Amino acid sequence: MDQGSKPEQDEELRKQKRLKELRRARNRLFVCFWTFPVYVLAVMQVLETGNETTLIMFAYMALYAGFGANLATKRCPQCHEQYFVKSFFLNPFRSQCAHCALALKQEESLGA
Ligand SMILES: [Zn+2]
Repeated sequence: MDQGSKPEQDEELRKQKRLKELRRARNRLFVCFWTFPVYVLAVMQVLETGNETTLIMFAYMALYAGFGANLATKRCPQCHEQYFVKSFFLNPFRSQCAHCALALKQEESLGA
């Protein structure tokens, strides 16, 4: 029972690692949200110079779609369902699993 490396511990470590990946993927999408004003400024600049904005719009949309798709495919380390997707809709703002409610950010210390 009291051996150095217990399978439950390995499982726990793997879970933590997966949760970290989930957080990182979500952060990327949020960074994309935050850069929206930059994007608007860029489009305005391009419009001022009389250039075509179609390409920059498509690029931005592709970026969003990419991050969104990436997030939608992320699986929960506990129940292996899609973490951010519940019956169709991607919700990047959720802080727990859509299926088993596993928290994205675990408590740093449990007190006791
Ligand atoms: Zn889950």
